[in-house]
Amino acid sequence: MKPAGPRGRRQTRLAGTPIVPGIGIGAVTLADEPALAVIRQKIAATDIAAELHQFEAAAAQSRKQLSRLNERLAGLPDAAQAEIAPLLDAHIHMLGNSRLMRAIRTAIAERLVSAATAVIDVTEDQAQAVRHGPRYGDDGAAARQADEIRDIGRRLLRNLTRLPFRSFADLPQGSVLVVERLRPADAALINPAQFAGIATEEGSAEDHTAVMLRAIGVPAVLGIAGLLAAVRQDAVVVLDGEAGTLIVNPSPASLDEAARLRAVFARGQRSLGRLRRLASETLDHVPIELHANLELPFELPMVAQSGATGIGLMRSEFLFMNQDTLPDEDRQFATYRETVLAMDGDPVTIRLLDWGGDKQSDGPGAELIPNAREANPALGLRGVRLLLHHRSLLETQLAALLRAAAFGPVRIMIPMVCCLTELTAVRQAMRLVWRRLEAAQIRLPAEPPPLGVMIETPAAALNAATLAREAAFFAIGTNDLTMYTLAVDRAVAGTVALYDPLDPAVLKLIGMTIEAARQAGIPVSLCGELASRTGAVPLLIGLGLRQLSMHGGAVLKIKRAVRATDSRACADLAAAALAATGAAAVHALIEDAAA
Ligand code: PEP
Ligand code: MG
Repeated sequence: MKPAGPRGRRQTRLAGTPIVPGIGIGAVTLADEPALAVIRQKIAATDIAAELHQFEAAAAQSRKQLSRLNERLAGLPDAAQAEIAPLLDAHIHMLGNSRLMRAIRTAIAERLVSAATAVIDVTEDQAQAVRHGPRYGDDGAAARQADEIRDIGRRLLRNLTRLPFRSFADLPQGSVLVVERLRPADAALINPAQFAGIATEEGSAEDHTAVMLRAIGVPAVLGIAGLLAAVRQDAVVVLDGEAGTLIVNPSPASLDEAARLRAVFARGQRSLGRLRRLASETLDHVPIELHANLELPFELPMVAQSGATGIGLMRSEFLFMNQDTLPDEDRQFATYRETVLAMDGDPVTIRLLDWGGDKQSDGPGAELIPNAREANPALGLRGVRLLLHHRSLLETQLAALLRAAAFGPVRIMIPMVCCLTELTAVRQAMRLVWRRLEAAQIRLPAEPPPLGVMIETPAAALNAATLAREAAFFAIGTNDLTMYTLAVDRAVAGTVALYDPLDPAVLKLIGMTIEAARQAGIPVSLCGELASRTGAVPLLIGLGLRQLSMHGGAVLKIKRAVRATDSRACADLAAAALAATGAAAVHALIEDAAA
């Protein structure tokens, strides 16, 4: 019943979303979920209905995930589709009214065990029965069928429980990490020297995992439909982070070609290095300031070497991820001060904690977000809303930041702002903390640091003129601005085609923000992923931006694009883009301008 293809040695080419350029060649490491995430539990008879309900919800979610994967198979080459589709169909079928599902329901109701315990017991029983039963003459086929039952069990368990972050530390060096889904907190645990590449089945270009992976700099492709069905532990693969492809069991010719591309890529990186000392200015000498985004502390030496003249966005979330407790003021202060000192007088813009939405982690602080499990956490208590809800979180962070500002030029930035009252409230909290530190004779800078806002909601862009009355600067966060403007989730692969920061609606909001900043005489930068797209540089300059911030690895390539641009031609391009009929038309305009 099962096709032998994906288990065999035939070359298969899969496609996903390119995230981090570079060629990774290596053996697959399938990262297991943590072993003991589920505690075996008996239940009372009064709990049967609730456990059955949870189980049905997990089964429905599992079917939905598999159907979504099935839809995305359409983008694969015919041969790959033919291999993977029957497997997905078989899994969806088994998650319906199958013997397996009936046995799990019976175990809950009759053996009085929790849904998770029933899934573990029944899938293992049935896997063993298939493996050793008389039904298969062919041992390989029996083993495959048993594996598939266990796969289904794992999917059900993942959907039944929120598993803690996993450890990648002991996985083999130089392998290609293959996982179904990587959360931002998982990505933060990855040591960039450990893997030749990273491939996931779920994920998209602008979700926070992608942001993290760019920071880490390991070649990566996300959102590869059918990935887990197509690869085996230790299979050799070639991952191309620029083309967004993964070749499983590559032929000798494919391996040779990959080795050649890897050498070409390394040469390209070396030639970019020569740009480091050149000015970031257009052909007609308009200076464009290039700053780096910082996601994780280990990037600091790389950022200091990246050619960036400051940090335009330090996401402070990493301090809160994968920790046993919330970081106290001293711990935060030490990290901020280290960053400020490492940048040696260049400005460091540190963003207040942007917790919630798809950054949600299971670590400490998870309990602070009451709506994290609701359908739309991105629309709930996220960013500044959460901070104003939990004053001690806000005040602790402000105190650490004010203290760090005594060691160099710090700017403080507020995430997820919609209106002026939020900025005013944070400013008041900052004054209060300042007075408290002053009274305690703690070392402080001469003046409170500039307090600015991220423009990442349509409301903030529409209110930009009002916000500019109190904000010391703006930073446009196109990742969220695109999501909230176009009503498309940045973290969901299924709608990825609809998510486009070059949509004229997003560009109009960017334009309004820049105009409001210009009128108020405050600086404005753009620090979403859009800033690292070389093709978008002339358009962003045409819209009036003179400051861009991006992951450190992109600074030099953006500098090269800036130096090839004549700012006088950019205004017309921006005007045409603002009046365009849709994102596709904007892409066409950009391509024409580059031709
Ligand atoms: C953004 O939304 O564009 C942004 C820079 O913030 P983050 O990606 O951290 O949400
Ligand atoms: Mg954002």
